[in-house]
Amino acid sequence: MVEYRFAIVGAGIAGASAGFNLAPHGSTLLLERESQPGYHSTGRSAALYTETYGNRVIRALTIASRPFFEAPPKGFSEHPLLTPRGTLVIARADQRAKLEAALAESKAILPSVEAMDAARASELCPTFRPGYLDSAFYEEDARDMDVHAIHQGYLRGFRAAGGRLVCDAEVLGLARNGAGWKIETPAGAFTADVVINAAGAWADVLARMAGASPVGLVPKRRTAATIEPPAGGDFRRWPAVIDVDEQFYWKPDAGQLLISPADETPVEPQDVQPEELDIALCVDRIERASTLAIRRIARKWAGLRSFVRDKTPVAGFAPDAPGFFWLAGQGGYGIMTSPAMGRVAAALARGLALPADIAARGVSPADLAPGRLA
Ligand SMILES: Cc1cc2nc3c(=O)[nH]c(=O)nc-3n(C[C@H](O)[C@H](O)[C@H](O)COP(=O)(O)OP(=O)(O)OC[C@H]3O[C@@H](n4cnc5c(N)ncnc54)[C@H](O)[C@@H]3O)c2cc1C
Repeated sequence: MVEYRFAIVGAGIAGASAGFNLAPHGSTLLLERESQPGYHSTGRSAALYTETYGNRVIRALTIASRPFFEAPPKGFSEHPLLTPRGTLVIARADQRAKLEAALAESKAILPSVEAMDAARASELCPTFRPGYLDSAFYEEDARDMDVHAIHQGYLRGFRAAGGRLVCDAEVLGLARNGAGWKIETPAGAFTADVVINAAGAWADVLARMAGASPVGLVPKRRTAATIEPPAGGDFRRWPAVIDVDEQFYWKPDAGQLLISPADETPVEPQDVQPEELDIALCVDRIERASTLAIRRIARKWAGLRSFVRDKTPVAGFAPDAPGFFWLAGQGGYGIMTSPAMGRVAAALARGLALPADIAARGVSPADLAPGRLA
């Protein structure tokens, strides 16, 4: 049996970004249950990078991730990781107070966020149903992410630094082995000093296997679909349009329009599938807000966004299971925060302080520590 310093469970964006940052510092194994990494949440996202989304810690981690996305290390990807998009957060007249509060909060973080009246917002996205829109704000700096390129870039860099990825390797048993762990999988048994729990929606399941207390992770189903865009190519320049109460959004996506009812239905960890009712709700809400006539759904899917109670990710050693490290609870922000979270995980798992640029943005280990959820 090969002895590894770190064994990461789960090769989604969380495990891949941690592996990318850990492999240069010690032998690192990445174990994935599926035959391909990225099959679950990572391959099902809306691929939006926005600095005004989520709570204080999420926003700090997102902003700290931008330099990596804009200038990744040489050889990371042949394509740009971010491309211009912009987000337009919209409100009806009865949502105006909500929009004003969200605008004030967003402007405090990102002064470039711009308030817009209905006429100006309609110039950016000329598809609102007449009379629907009251006011909006625009985050020009929001970007589309190339999630596939980001994920593959992490995995390529991980392997180049000597990391080993094993797929079809569901962790079925975790037992103490001296100061470290013995890990049982259908692809063989492995030992490691530190196990990193990047199992996405299954992170509490894995923790129980290790004898660590769960953190109360709740996987929430979110549905998405694509529809044929309106004729003409102009829609490609539309911003992502997001209802201020997060009841729906739409955005251009690879030549089509991606739509979502922004649902958050708590479910057990699973290979989640879309429900017809959520698709119908989505179509209804978007047809009320816009002149889009949705005749046919081209593709539909659902994925899990997994949250703990304060909606902040969990990164740090379990207080009750030595050598068991948490990297979970990325919610709806796991891709856009992955450059910062990968570095955070690698630092904390090696017993180091948080990277200085991330600490300088007001993030502390206590914000992320699993112990806060006891
Ligand atoms: C519809 C939708 C839209 C989203 N939009 C955005 C967005 O615009 N921007 C953004 O930043 N984020 C977005 N997200 C959130 C983002 O996708 C997630 O936060 C992120 O993918 C979580 O990554 P992960 O690696 O933790 O989980 P996953 O990608 O699910 O990876 C976990 C992996 O662990 C593996 N695993 C589990 N148990 C075991 C085991 N016992 N042994 C071995 N392997 C195991 C699983 O097979 C899985 O591959 C969205 C999510 C959804 C569903």
